[in-house]
Amino acid sequence: MAGEPQADCLFCKIVEGKIPATVVRETATTLAFRDINPQAPTHVLVIPKAHYPDAASLAAAEPLVAADVLTEAALVAADEGLSERGHRLVFNTGAGAGQVVFHAHAHVIGGRGLQWPPG
Ligand code: AMP
Ligand code: ZN
Repeated sequence: MAGEPQADCLFCKIVEGKIPATVVRETATTLAFRDINPQAPTHVLVIPKAHYPDAASLAAAEPLVAADVLTEAALVAADEGLSERGHRLVFNTGAGAGQVVFHAHAHVIGGRGLQWPPG
């Protein structure tokens, strides 16, 4: 069923506590933890606890939870001192855009100069 935990999903396992993560924020609907392979001084992933393969399917099925992800991403950025300095919020969507974990997640990236357009 949509939103249910998937046995083969890495981020569902993190939500369930079966795989460790460095959690920085948690709400009833979301979890934020540090990326294991950080691309910047701040690199935090914000995920819905419910399983959806990408941001588009999350937004279509549970728009309020999608909003929670955005709210938490902003709070992560604030916690990391990046509200004024700036940060980047990225949802890679689809293998062609570099998505490798098919559980929706926002990357909160900052703490260094960021190029635009991205690669
Ligand atoms: P994406 O390419 O958008 O699917 O991003 C997946 C991200 O998950 C990558 O930046 C990985 O470094 C990160 N990642 C993979 N495994 C873990 C893990 N066990 N804990 C934290 N981050 C992870
Ligand atoms: Zn999942």
